[in-house]
Amino acid sequence: MPFSLPELPYAKDALTPHIDAQTMEIHHGKHHAAYVSKANDALKGTSLENASVQEVARRLAELPADKQTAVRNNAGGHLNHSLFWQVMAPPSSGGGGEPKGELAAAIEKSFGGFDAFKEKFAAAAAGRFGSGWAWLCAHGDGSVHVTSTANQDNPTMDKAFGGEGADHHPILGLDVWEHAYYLNYQNRRPDYVSAWWNVVNWSKVQELYDAAKA
Ligand code: MN
Repeated sequence: MPFSLPELPYAKDALTPHIDAQTMEIHHGKHHAAYVSKANDALKGTSLENASVQEVARRLAELPADKQTAVRNNAGGHLNHSLFWQVMAPPSSGGGGEPKGELAAAIEKSFGGFDAFKEKFAAAAAGRFGSGWAWLCAHGDGSVHVTSTANQDNPTMDKAFGGEGADHHPILGLDVWEHAYYLNYQNRRPDYVSAWWNVVNWSKVQELYDAAKA
């Protein structure tokens, strides 16, 4: 089955003022849509044509060399954005605040506290030169760590493709491409990152954490 563009789980203006409606509309309806259609074109006729996007990301090395870059960029873009929409929610429906339960405990253990985690994550987001993503990843053993990737790479891709391997499960991702914030924040990426904490959907992140440990 070719990939298709997932619906946003909230209205385009639901994350305002932290992320404006026009940015959401172009980001989802144009950028993400283009990753989907280009990934489908590049995968057509290959052995991974019917694989899930997660599987495609893990198995890029199996593709013909002349397809690998297009699939890495575009299936990566589809995978990353599909997560991104899910890990946000309007403040009026649970966005923002702090993680609870086991995830909060894992963050405490790995970083020494929620504020220390936020600092480390924001530094990864600010320090990613050019376009890319900041991530919170979980491992099967329940530990968590912060990382970042360039372009549309994903931590589950193998090292030859900018990732960290299949035991790095992204449970929270922040898009730091300029297309994600430029209309509202221009060059002020750190302001975008600070505002973004107000729309993080921690109950979804907890769900992904539980799944990564299972
Ligand atoms: Mn994006």
